[in-house]
Amino acid sequence: MRVYQEAQKLNVTPKYLMEICIQLGITGKTFVSGLNPEELKLIEGNIKKIQRGKEKIVITGAETIGGLASKMAISASDLIKTLTELNITATMNEKIGLENIQMLCESLGFSYTIQRTKETYYSGKYVDSSAELQKRSPIVTVMGHVDHGKTTILDTIRKTNVAQKEYGQITQKIGAYKVHINTGSIVFIDTPGHEAFSAMRARGAGFTDIVVLVVAADDGVKMQTVEAIDHCKVANVSVIVAINKIDKPNVNPEMVKKQLTEYGLIPEEWGGQTVYVNVSGLTGQNIKELLEIILLMGEMMELKANPDRPAEGTVLESYIHKQKGAVINLIVQNGTLNIGDYFVCGGTCGKVRAMFDEFNNRMDKAGPSTPVEVFGAHETCPPGEKFFGVSSESEAKEKADALKTGNVSKSFVVKKLTLEELQKQIMQGRINEVKVILKMDSNGSKEAIIGSLEKISSQMQNEVKAKLVTVHSGLGSINESDVLLAVSSGAIILGFNVSADNNIEKLAKQYGIEIKTYKIIYDLVEDVKAAMEGTLKPEEILSLSGQALVKKLFKVGKNQVVAGCLVVEGKVVRNSKIKVLRDGKPVFEGALSSLKRFKDNVKEVGINTECGISMENFNDLMEGDIIQSYVIITGEKK
Ligand code: GDP
Repeated sequence: MRVYQEAQKLNVTPKYLMEICIQLGITGKTFVSGLNPEELKLIEGNIKKIQRGKEKIVITGAETIGGLASKMAISASDLIKTLTELNITATMNEKIGLENIQMLCESLGFSYTIQRTKETYYSGKYVDSSAELQKRSPIVTVMGHVDHGKTTILDTIRKTNVAQKEYGQITQKIGAYKVHINTGSIVFIDTPGHEAFSAMRARGAGFTDIVVLVVAADDGVKMQTVEAIDHCKVANVSVIVAINKIDKPNVNPEMVKKQLTEYGLIPEEWGGQTVYVNVSGLTGQNIKELLEIILLMGEMMELKANPDRPAEGTVLESYIHKQKGAVINLIVQNGTLNIGDYFVCGGTCGKVRAMFDEFNNRMDKAGPSTPVEVFGAHETCPPGEKFFGVSSESEAKEKADALKTGNVSKSFVVKKLTLEELQKQIMQGRINEVKVILKMDSNGSKEAIIGSLEKISSQMQNEVKAKLVTVHSGLGSINESDVLLAVSSGAIILGFNVSADNNIEKLAKQYGIEIKTYKIIYDLVEDVKAAMEGTLKPEEILSLSGQALVKKLFKVGKNQVVAGCLVVEGKVVRNSKIKVLRDGKPVFEGALSSLKRFKDNVKEVGINTECGISMENFNDLMEGDIIQSYVIITGEKK
């Protein structure tokens, strides 16, 4: 066939066809030149590819080969052939996933758009495909020791990097704020410090991408610096070190770097991977560089999200506004939140009535990595709760009710963690690490305990399948940071000659974390060893269940005495430990041999009820004695 004839057939101009010929390396042709069958095939394939590229295929999710073939106007066998070339096997009626469809489109020269139906989005079964993902801003938390300058750095960033139109506007705290520089934007969490960071993580909400660790050049590494480092390690977040207060005379940033290498933060220039920036929060020196480094790190981390799906985020804080009702401040992590969207968070739900940014500007939509204040929730909701968009009011109500009544799992579930539980898990082969947080009274005991634990750990390496990992060790009382770190790392807390105050005990109980304290190093080390070997004995705690007053004694048989008693407190339990008190002093400890109501043996007898009690190996009861019944609780501390 001649060039002009082929052009007619393909519905293109002969000139265009000539251009295609040149592109394909078919040279020396004129309008009337002939084309051989091989050349024709090549031209035809190419023109189809170009034409396909102009038409967009709409992909809505996984599709069958048959369905795709008709959408693309290609035979199913041609599709299967192309898939085989891509090392994907599929039959006519088989569904192939989004990623494979994208590969197919690219290979056949189709351009495409992905349009998920509302149903696919809300079904909860979809995964964002790589084509849907777009770059998002990094979310940053600032940590470090008290007074090292975290707040000053955050304030300086906020003051010097707000957009021009917002400059001078009154900012309001909504838990986080976004700053913009030439190369991108960054979200900073308002509350500096590792407690807030870890409290969020303990509730299952880890949204920080990068931590800026602030260390004052004139003070160096301090207790909370080490705590913060250990929190970051457990959370596996990237750390940038900001050595602050370099405006001060005679400070030595190199010294700080040296100190930090002991904790694994080795500077890039010394062969490590940690980026250090010398800054001054006070004068603003190098703050711009710090922001640029954060963006660069974010770039390298390839932080991405899909803005075209319903919003998913985490609640930062929530309160009741006098006029406007429940307010939820959240950070959108994926998707986009729009005015009018229905949502669920924790046990509450609502419809977005209004949204504001940190400058009180009204917003219509909030995409990934955006902090936003939302009005329209029915009630407030605890920080750390997951927030997600749903398709309808009824779905919102249904999901919130299910969360409220506990019919579905909440964002955060307490799992009890004790040394015994860890032992059980090692024995079952479910874990191969025993994680501990050690708090001690002095450097002397710290060295002795860590030394002994390291020794048993290496001695036992071959015998047991678990190794000992010290997540954090420090001096002083057990504090909130220790408990939160224990929650997020799955560690137990062992204290030597230190204690935890009531609030900390309560917090630990709330999170199901065990705090064990010791007065003798040997006991601490032996307990850890026993847990790793599987020989740890359950801790036996006696709990008073009730008391009975001996009113009358009856002789039964030769030596046996039965005491006619009245239960005066709680209940007396048959299988319990017994203490006999006479004039307030214990005269016997042992066990019951029988507990009866009239002639019947019973398991327990409640308050204000008469019963007959006899003891094992004790017949010297007297009227007026008090019999205390104790039940044993194992493995529970207090
Ligand atoms: P935070 O507890 O870590 O939040 O520390 P702050 O930001 O409250 O700072 C503690 C003190 O250090 C304040 O008196 C600040 O003015 C001072 N400060 C913070 N940054 C700098 C700095 O870069 N240079 C100097 N000279 N002082 C600073």
